[in-house]
Amino acid sequence: MADKTRAVGTRVVVDPRVLDIPGLQRLIDVLAARGYTVIGPTVREGSIVNGPIRSVDQLPRGWGDEQESAHYRLRSRDDDAFFGFAAGAQSAKPVFFPTDELLWRGGRSQGRFTVVSEPEAAGSTPSPVQDPPYALLGVRSCDLHAISIHDRVLTERGQVDAHYTARRADAFVVAVSCTDPGGTCFCVSMGTGPRPEGGPDARYDLALTELLDGGLHRFLVEVGSERGAEVLAELHTDPAPPEDVAGADEVATVAAGRMGRTMDTDGLKELLYASVESPRWDDVAARCLACTNCTMVCPTCFCTTVNDVSDLTGDAAERHRVWDSCFDADFSYIHGGTVRESTRSRYRQWMTHKLASWVDQFGTSGCVGCGRCITWCPAAIDITAEAAALRGVPQTYRPF
Ligand code: SF4
Ligand code: SF4
Repeated sequence: MADKTRAVGTRVVVDPRVLDIPGLQRLIDVLAARGYTVIGPTVREGSIVNGPIRSVDQLPRGWGDEQESAHYRLRSRDDDAFFGFAAGAQSAKPVFFPTDELLWRGGRSQGRFTVVSEPEAAGSTPSPVQDPPYALLGVRSCDLHAISIHDRVLTERGQVDAHYTARRADAFVVAVSCTDPGGTCFCVSMGTGPRPEGGPDARYDLALTELLDGGLHRFLVEVGSERGAEVLAELHTDPAPPEDVAGADEVATVAAGRMGRTMDTDGLKELLYASVESPRWDDVAARCLACTNCTMVCPTCFCTTVNDVSDLTGDAAERHRVWDSCFDADFSYIHGGTVRESTRSRYRQWMTHKLASWVDQFGTSGCVGCGRCITWCPAAIDITAEAAALRGVPQTYRPF
């Protein structure tokens, strides 16, 4: 192994290997034996969602999807691909940043209220989270970038999120190249896909590219970390022949040419800032239901609120942090009223933050081009079409 492994910056480069289907099962087994709860894509109730897996048989083998504005359907593929679908409704967000996080529990006794459990500081022992470490299988490149954004927002600023930090530090990530992008994907425009590239903005431990040509179902495996190299060493793999390395490049090139949407990012931040009084906000507000779906499915949205609950006696209480949304009128409530009363102002806030002020705040766009907000918006509102409309140009689509 030593002669095949070298460090490049924070990335470990191992000559690409090839894994067959029993090898994929062995990967799941090795991760489970190392104590990880393996989370991977599964078919449930007509969509592909993440769940705990112990077998390759639980993966969506032979399933693809159709995605368009306000449209998601599974479709049967004419091959046996395990990862032949685009981004599902869920990203890695709910794994590392759950919808409902218990912050502390307290109780009243003899006239005194005491907090009996609270999170420790990040990196402390014991960890503030009790979950086993997670291994995520099948993370797309757009979602790797979204995880990196959350790392920046939740672990690298003054107030570190101890729960997120603990889950992230222990997690193992197996990325996968997109082979069949959805009709709402535009990662190429945002520079976030479709192939996992590694590096500080898209870290993974192992990355797979599924290859089905020549009647041989296999995966090209690339290593992104020392931990990934250790796990790979426990699998039976073969050196990747040059035609498989070229085949993986070809898969990524074809996928990049099949994006369903585009977003012109040239001067986008300035366009949004200059559009603060655009009549387009009234147009979109007439369609937007302020349902919050777009923020719930977005892998980078991280707004939360805090709920305190007590039992009927008032002797036991808990504080929970739960996902919230800037589309909710109460979200901007401060003493004296709601700052953003209209749907117009809330949609403008969300889109301007994603594509403009996020850049000033965190150094990157807040959008990774996953297309989820387009697919899951019941009103078929499309962020790429809204950006094009602000620019005064028509949006183009690839028909699905
Ligand atoms: S843009 Fe669509 S998904 Fe988002 S709040 Fe409005 S109606 Fe809901
Ligand atoms: S704004 Fe929409 S396309 Fe961009 S990352 Fe969020 S859900 Fe994906």
